[in-house]
Amino acid sequence: MKCYRIASIPGDGIGIEVIAEGIRVLEALAALEGFSLQFKGFDWSSARFKATGAYIPAGGLAELKTFDAIFFGAVGAPDVPDHVSLWGLRLPICQGFDQFANVRPSRVLPGIASPLARGKDIDWVIVRENSEGEYSGAGGRVHSGHPEEVAMEVSTFTRAGVERVHRFAFALARSRPRKHLTLVTKSNAQRHGMVLWDEIFYEVAKDFPEVTTNRVLVDAVTTVMVLKPASLDAIVASNLHADILSDLAAALSGSLGIAPTANLNPSRRFPSMFEPIHGSAFDITGKGIANPIATFWTASLMLEHLGEAKAAARLMKAIERTTGEQVFTPDLGGVHDTRAVTNAVIRALK
Ligand code: ATP
Repeated sequence: MKCYRIASIPGDGIGIEVIAEGIRVLEALAALEGFSLQFKGFDWSSARFKATGAYIPAGGLAELKTFDAIFFGAVGAPDVPDHVSLWGLRLPICQGFDQFANVRPSRVLPGIASPLARGKDIDWVIVRENSEGEYSGAGGRVHSGHPEEVAMEVSTFTRAGVERVHRFAFALARSRPRKHLTLVTKSNAQRHGMVLWDEIFYEVAKDFPEVTTNRVLVDAVTTVMVLKPASLDAIVASNLHADILSDLAAALSGSLGIAPTANLNPSRRFPSMFEPIHGSAFDITGKGIANPIATFWTASLMLEHLGEAKAAARLMKAIERTTGEQVFTPDLGGVHDTRAVTNAVIRALK
């Protein structure tokens, strides 16, 4: 029997609640499909940071590297600055394991109402550059507290980094029925990094003649997402742009609580990491009402990556049956709690 070793990092807030439910669903599914999943939980979280001064203990990444995949919840706590928690846990894994392609599918699942009249037209996958750009971490701060204080956040675009994400996005677009890829850019105002971003896109395009393309400025693409959702298919955007656009995509497809993401290292030299796109959501932590659908969809992406395509499809079908029956948590207008949604998905698997 095939056995996959999965590192689970629930992290903070509702991350802890939804990852526990994700593991329940995955274990039920593995038993039905005849493979096994061996989970090891890691307590890397803001609680651990406050107790020990570190999110990731010494030697932690070396151990994490030995797993087949990482199942991640969320990081962030009200009493830890966001940049400390993000750079303490999530970004060292994404950057350390070179998970340069962040894949974010969006569509309106059965039974869910989009705030858009044309919501049913949403069927997008956003590819976010995940290793450099605006979140490269390059920059610095000097003369702290003085009137002359300076802070620089340097957007970094390298030929190698840009080319690999465009190549990945073109290959993904080619695998989809419409074979269309939209380049999101801001090269009118950002005349160095973003111009390189655009140039390399058109160089790579020559190797993918079956893929049609268009180029849209990041501000304009927000209006296209709202007014002409059917005109978009695959979308490639920089780290910051895609971060913002994918929250919009999640809201337009019904709720932040349903949107999944995969942080991929396509070379498979390091494990890839799978997480719901939402954060730790302190406002609903501990209430038992977090929507676990994003985590289940994320689990389906993880199974696909592990080569268990049949199980991944079975899980998606169970999710869709559950949303189709409107077994919803309050964020989708329902009255069910997290556990009830999980139980419905497990029943629908069978
Ligand atoms: P972070 O700072 O860690 O990114 P956050 O709490 O600022 O997280 P999100 O968690 O991304 O932001 O989401 C914003 C709001 O959306 C939450 O406060 C919550 O009300 C709602 N939300 C997000 N995820 C879910 C979910 N899975 N189920 C229900 N509501 C959710």
